[in-house]
Amino acid sequence: MNKAWLTSLAFTIIVSHFYAHETSYLDLDSSSFEFEFSKADLLGQISPASHPSFSNVPIRLCSRSGVYLRTEVLEAFEGLYSAASDEGIELIIVSGMRNFNHQKSIWERKWERPQYMGWSKVSKAIDILTYSSMPGSSRHHWGTDFDLNSLDNNFFESGDGLIIYDFLSRCAGEFGFKQVYSDDVNRTGYKEEKWHWSYMPIAEEMLKAYNSTISIDDFSGFNGSSVADSIDVLKLYVNGIDLCDFK
Ligand SMILES: [Zn+2]
Repeated sequence: MNKAWLTSLAFTIIVSHFYAHETSYLDLDSSSFEFEFSKADLLGQISPASHPSFSNVPIRLCSRSGVYLRTEVLEAFEGLYSAASDEGIELIIVSGMRNFNHQKSIWERKWERPQYMGWSKVSKAIDILTYSSMPGSSRHHWGTDFDLNSLDNNFFESGDGLIIYDFLSRCAGEFGFKQVYSDDVNRTGYKEEKWHWSYMPIAEEMLKAYNSTISIDDFSGFNGSSVADSIDVLKLYVNGIDLCDFK
């Protein structure tokens, strides 16, 4: 497709909210949100601090300052956080929106690891992709996804971590959240991430917009971008999510 045409393309999407639940503050039954996703939004080439759709996450909800999410995502998370608090559980956002440059710094730091001396570019990229996204392909770019409490699956398998994970498995769907990198055997791409949760009412629409707008030609500007096509990053990773209903 013509690149100039793609660049100018933006999507206006009305999200019909069939994610009915009993939490009245969001009133998802009767409202609809209008979103416009630019290519920059989808590739994370934005600054959330100056983007009108994003809000700064209050420090009481996260492990550090300077965390941003889309405003509707933050509102939904406040509901989930309160429900957890009612059960004596403390949810902590350890990572929220990460833009392209942030993801590029994570990716390139791994790309330069001495352990990869002698590896082919494809093998190196696939190894890094176990848990880390290629810049331009991360759901963290969208402001719909965040990581909770610990970046270690083992944490969620016993003690406080298991209590947190059980709560999330039971309740997160009511607020629109889903663990997209699940243990579903039909899924491709990243390994299971029990810490990574996605706000589906917006993320599903962003994935549709991404699939219509972004091509492999958009992967550039970082070390290793040339192998994005060979490893089929769009099909296997961007679309390698759990497609089961999340309720
Ligand atoms: Zn994550």
